[in-house]
Amino acid sequence: MGSKIAVVGSSNTDMIIKMERIPKPGETILGGEFTTAPGGKGANQAVAAARAGGAVRLVARVGTDMFGNQAVEGFVGDNIDVSHVLRDRGEPSGVALIFVDHQGENSIAVASGANGRLSPADVQAATGAIAEADVLIMQLETPLDTVSEAAAIAARAGVRSILNPAPAQALDDELLRRISILTPNESEAELLTGLAINTDADAAEAANALSQKGVGVVLITLGARGVFVHGDGVHDLVPGFEVEAVDTTAAGDVFNGALAVALAEGTPLGEAVHFANAAAAISVTRLGAQPSAPSRQEIDAFLR
Ligand code: ATP
Repeated sequence: MGSKIAVVGSSNTDMIIKMERIPKPGETILGGEFTTAPGGKGANQAVAAARAGGAVRLVARVGTDMFGNQAVEGFVGDNIDVSHVLRDRGEPSGVALIFVDHQGENSIAVASGANGRLSPADVQAATGAIAEADVLIMQLETPLDTVSEAAAIAARAGVRSILNPAPAQALDDELLRRISILTPNESEAELLTGLAINTDADAAEAANALSQKGVGVVLITLGARGVFVHGDGVHDLVPGFEVEAVDTTAAGDVFNGALAVALAEGTPLGEAVHFANAAAAISVTRLGAQPSAPSRQEIDAFLR
């Protein structure tokens, strides 16, 4: 058994059409190429953590439709415990409809469906899974009161919690005080602090501002540059790895999943960020969200 990770979050099916250009309102364009892929930040992070070596329990809601069935099959295939993946009879599974044009520019519409019904009561029913975990991971694609409840359960049980505040939205200080580790990217950190981030010094200032709101550790992910780390006695940039990036989709999700595993194994913060940077760097060399998440063997080999 690996280290125990609980993930509270979203599961979606991404439906992607690659085409010459994105249609305007009222316009129909033929000639696209269609693919589907499992997605949703909660599911992506759960899969990344499981592949990185964690024993993962996912708390999520999907519909009773075909997409929900496929999502659950995928989780089981990645050895994720699905006993807290609830099937919602009233709402369909979450879907994201994604247009990608020939320049890689995209336009995305998300129907959250069952994700929007993941409730504080659902999380309370999973108290055991959260309290027994070494690390809890959360994001913001499920209702905020549900995220708050999960954070409160973890705080009461002394479980380290990671909040990846994506997609960006304002958060109250009470929630921030409950979180052990906050992992915004640059634009999320800008929204949470009101500070523009252009340089490492700006990132340091934003991390300070967030830590003054009561978050124990702040990790601002800076794409290929790496991560600005503030907390646990570290206040520095942990550089990323130079790789040939093919598709950065879900780099942040892979980072968070791998980070949780390293921390749950007792790895010190700076080294855990280095490990997570490696996992995320591997993922950007491959296409897709969940398909790009590397196995533990691959991460260890990359770091040797
Ligand atoms: P995304 O929205 O694409 O999932 P994000 O905006 O949440 O990503 P980023 O800060 O872009 O998060 O990336 C997260 C981490 O992934 C970075 O801190 C870094 O470790 C790694 N990473 C991202 N892009 C690259 C890259 N081009 N080369 C190497 N590592 C990368």
